[in-house]
Amino acid sequence: MAADTENATERVTDLLAAAVAAVGGAERTGQVEMARAVARAFDTGQHLAVQAGTGTGKSLAYLVPAIAHAVSAGQPVVVSTATIALQRQLVDRDLPRLADALTGALPRRPQFALLKGRGNYLCLNKIHNGTTGTTDPDDRPQEELFDAVAATALGRDVQRLTKWASDTETGDRDELRPGVPDRSWRQVSVSARECIGVTRCPYGTDCFAEKARGKAADVDVVVTNHALLAIDAMSDAAVLPEHSAVVVDEAHELADRVTSVATGELSATSLGVAHRRAARLVDAELAERLEAAVANVSSAIHDGTPGRIDRLDDELATYLTALRDAADRARLAIDTAPTDPKAAAARTEAVTALTEVSDTASRIVDSFVPAIPDRYDVVWLDHEGGNSGSVSAILRVAPLSVAGLLRTRLFEHATTVLTSATLTVGGTFDTMARAWGLAETTWQGLDVGSPFEHAKSGILYVAAHLPPPGRDGTGSAEQLNEIEALITAAGGRTLGLFSSMRAAKAAAEVMRERLDTPVLCQGEDTTSALVERFADDPQTSLFGTLSLWQGVDVPGPSLSLVLIDRIPFPRPDDPLLTARQRAVTAHGGNGFMAVAASHAALLLAQGAGRLLRRTDDRGVVAVLDSRMATARYGGYLRASLPPFWATTDPVRVRASLERLRAGA
Ligand code: SF4
Repeated sequence: MAADTENATERVTDLLAAAVAAVGGAERTGQVEMARAVARAFDTGQHLAVQAGTGTGKSLAYLVPAIAHAVSAGQPVVVSTATIALQRQLVDRDLPRLADALTGALPRRPQFALLKGRGNYLCLNKIHNGTTGTTDPDDRPQEELFDAVAATALGRDVQRLTKWASDTETGDRDELRPGVPDRSWRQVSVSARECIGVTRCPYGTDCFAEKARGKAADVDVVVTNHALLAIDAMSDAAVLPEHSAVVVDEAHELADRVTSVATGELSATSLGVAHRRAARLVDAELAERLEAAVANVSSAIHDGTPGRIDRLDDELATYLTALRDAADRARLAIDTAPTDPKAAAARTEAVTALTEVSDTASRIVDSFVPAIPDRYDVVWLDHEGGNSGSVSAILRVAPLSVAGLLRTRLFEHATTVLTSATLTVGGTFDTMARAWGLAETTWQGLDVGSPFEHAKSGILYVAAHLPPPGRDGTGSAEQLNEIEALITAAGGRTLGLFSSMRAAKAAAEVMRERLDTPVLCQGEDTTSALVERFADDPQTSLFGTLSLWQGVDVPGPSLSLVLIDRIPFPRPDDPLLTARQRAVTAHGGNGFMAVAASHAALLLAQGAGRLLRRTDDRGVVAVLDSRMATARYGGYLRASLPPFWATTDPVRVRASLERLRAGA
C-alpha cells in the first residue's frame, strides 16, 4: 500500500476510535475493517462492495472515512439510501453525533445536509404564477380556485399550503404536519423537468429547492436517496453538488430503484394531462389531432391483455407512432420563452408533459426493432385496480439491465462504495456486481462478517418432510399443521414471511382458530403499527409479505421464530424478471439461476436476517419448502443464508423452541 493511503487508513482508524468512544460504544473488528477499506477505496479510487452484517455498525464505518475524505478533498461525499428510515437515522442521529465527536480531531466541524428531489419542495413560481389548486390542475386558471373549490379537500389543502409557503423555512414536504395527499402536493410543486430554470424564475432567489441545493454544495456529507442519485447520473444537468465519491447504503436495492427511475409509462391519465396542458396553447387543429391520438392509445391499452409484450401489434404501433408525432408537433408549436413568468410556467409544464409522451411512445416503438435476445428495453401492460373498483391501464417500458447506465454514468465519475447486510448471493458478490455494472470496472468485494455467532445463536430448519408447495400459493394441510406446531412450541413470538398476501391471510385465519396466542396479519393496520404491537407482546405473531421480509427490526424475545412458507421465486408472470431470465438464457447462461434463484436467495437472506438483531438474540429460521433440501439449487440458496446450525428434524426444532420459550 502506498504511504499516503496507509496514512489515510491509519487516520480513519483513529477517528473511528474517537467517534466510537464519544458515543459510548466498543470497538468492533468488522467496523474497523470496513472503515479502513472505505478509506482505502476513497484514496485509491477503486470501487468497493462491502457486506457488513447487522450489528457491525456500518453507518459509522463509512461516515467516518467519508467525513475525513470530504474535509481533506474539499468536496462533498454523497451518501445514498433506499429508505427514509435510514435517511432519518443518518441525518437525525448518526451525523449530529459524529459531528460533535470529530470536531476536535478535524480542522473544522464537519457539515452535512439532506437533499431530496425538486418535487419534495414547494415551488413558489407554481404557487404564485402557475395553475395551482384548480380541481383539474391543468385547465382552470388560478383566479377561479378559491371560490370554486374552497369547499373541497383539495382546495383546503392548497389554501393551507399557500399559507405555509410564507411560514416555512425549508418548503420541505416532510416538515409539513399534518401531511397532504400526493394530489394536493402536486398543485404546489414541480418536477425537475417542469422547473422553468432558476435564471428565468422570478422566485429563483427564494426558491426552496435551490436553497437546499446551495446548502448541500457547501457541506461534507450530502445524504440523498437512490432515485435522486439515479436522476443525477442520468441527466446532463447536475442535480447533486459536484462530487467524486459516493456511498450507496442498502445497495441491494440500487438496481431496482434505478430501474424504476428509468421506467417510462403511458396511461390515460398522463396522456389526458399532456393533452389538456397543450390544448390551450396550440391551434385547434393540433389540439384535435393530439386528442384523437390520445384517445386511440388510451382505448387500445384499456382493451389490451395485461402482461409482457414481445411483439407490438400493427394497430398499437400505428397509434403510438401517431401519438409521438402529434405530441412532437404540439411541443414544437409552443413558445417556451415568453417574457411573462406565468406563461412560462404553463408552457414549460405543457412541453415537459408532451416531451415525456413523445419520448416514451418512441422508446416503446423502437424497443421492438432488435431481435428479442438483443433488446435493451422490456414493454408490458399493467391493469391496476383503483379503490372505486375502476381499472387503470398503464403501458410501461423499462430497461432489461441498468448495468451499462450505472457503469458509464456513476462508476466512471465517482469512486463508489456499495454496502448492505446482504450483498453476496450463493456466497459471492458476482450477481450483484453484474447487476450494478461493477463487474467491468476495477473493484474489490469485502465481507466483514457479523458480530453474531450464527451457529450458536440460530437454527436453520428446513421442513424436508413436507410435500413441495402447490401452485395455488396457499399452504397445504401438512404445512398448516407444521406452522401450528412450531408457533405453539415457540409460544407465539413468530414472524411469518409469506410469498403472497393471499397465503399470509389464509394462514392467519387458520391459526386464529387453532392457537391460543394472537396472530396479526399485514393489511389490518399500518405496517408500523402492527410491528409495534408484535414487538410489545411476545405472545403475538405477525404474518405478512414483502415489506416484512426487509423492514422488520425487532430485537429480543418477541421474535424467536421466522417462518418462511416457500422459496420466494419471482412470480412467473413478472414481466421484467422473466425477460431478464430469457435474455441470460439466450446468451448461453443459466437464466433460472442468474435471475430467479438469485432473486430468491437475496430475499431469503433478508428474511432470515430478521431473526438475530442483537448479540443475545436466539431463535429459529424455519423454511417450510422442502425444495430447499431436495432441489439442485437448494445448496445455492442455503449458501446465501447466514451460517446457522442446520437441521431437518422437526422434533429437535420444537424442543429448542420450547427451551427458548422457557428461558425467555
Ligand atoms: S426555480 Fe424552479 S422550482 Fe424554484 S421556484 Fe422557480 S420554477 Fe419553482
